[in-house]
Amino acid sequence: MLLSTASCSIYEAVLRPVAPEINVSDDSLESQDEAEVHAGFDKETPAHEPEMEPKTGTEAGRETGTATETDTEMQAKDEVTPPVFGFIDAHADTLSRARLPQHNAGLYSNNLHVDFRRLHEFGAPVQVFVLWCADRFVADAFDYTNSLIDFLESEVGKHSDIIEIALSLEDLERNARNNKISAVLSIEGGEALMGKLENLDHFYNRGVRIMSLTWNRENELGYGQATGSDEGLKPFGVEVLQRMEELGIILDVSHLNRTGFWDAHRLSTRPYMASHSNASSVTPHNRNLTDDQIRAVADSGGVIGIALYPPFLSRSGNVSMGDIMSHIRHFIDLGAGDNLGLGGDLDGFNTMPAGLTCVSSYKVLAEEIANVFGNDASSKIMSGNFYNFFVRYF
Ligand SMILES: [Zn+2]
Repeated sequence: MLLSTASCSIYEAVLRPVAPEINVSDDSLESQDEAEVHAGFDKETPAHEPEMEPKTGTEAGRETGTATETDTEMQAKDEVTPPVFGFIDAHADTLSRARLPQHNAGLYSNNLHVDFRRLHEFGAPVQVFVLWCADRFVADAFDYTNSLIDFLESEVGKHSDIIEIALSLEDLERNARNNKISAVLSIEGGEALMGKLENLDHFYNRGVRIMSLTWNRENELGYGQATGSDEGLKPFGVEVLQRMEELGIILDVSHLNRTGFWDAHRLSTRPYMASHSNASSVTPHNRNLTDDQIRAVADSGGVIGIALYPPFLSRSGNVSMGDIMSHIRHFIDLGAGDNLGLGGDLDGFNTMPAGLTCVSSYKVLAEEIANVFGNDASSKIMSGNFYNFFVRYF
């Protein structure tokens, strides 16, 4: 605990001075990110050599979940070995950030927002590590994305006593029982495919289980919300979406422009997630979701991860825990309380909302949610809702 606090303090001391205004810091990734308006870095994770077993059309079908037999079986199973996850977070940019020359950090212990040591304070959390490609790597996006997976695999390999890459629900549950962190791989933006469908299969085989079609930019699949385009998905984007469903890669709609979102919603037969987006009714920001979008994700059976990037939480320069609670309240008021999780976007930006410093602060966040909305809501948002989603679709 003390170590962790110290680490957070160091991190804050280093990074606080840099943040919100456009700054000419020596951290080019951060400057770029801020300049491009969205909190969008990420890093990603690893993989194994997978036996590829695409899901069948039936398995992939959108389900609504008032089962009987299955529920009973699951209940019985839960009674035997209830998995306990410290938290489930759908989006962290730690991989690409750690690789920046100015950080050159490892993943076990570092001064970033997230490392294995602090994750393990929560016992067995699930952390989605994002594979995100900065502008300068787009021309080599396939190789760069592979290099991030190599990096995660190597770091996980050195610390396999406390963390493993999870490829399936069984992996998540086994890791939880063994008090290990689960790392899940997600591609942020289809640039990594470089226009080739077979590269999607490649990344599935390397362990990727979640993917967003775009980041902020236009790419071969469609248009990021930051482009301002009202064009829908491109033909390759539609092709990729269909193949994702065949393989069992979860769709992440964060960053996608509005028209692309509705195309994806219409074309998806499986529930999908918005890994790191908040409510635009509370904070108007083009990366946040409209009420109609929030209802659509919920209707699909999907989950939305609350992001902690301050501009998504409030337009005031002074973002507090109360702003996070305002977004949560809005989701609950819309009837999406069971579709709300965590997608902090940690390491995608510098300065956290007041009172939070790094992943260790998820303890404080969980307590505050419990104080305001009750223990049940806190437990659902911190892990329960994403776990229920993964039980059905991971
Ligand atoms: Zn992002």
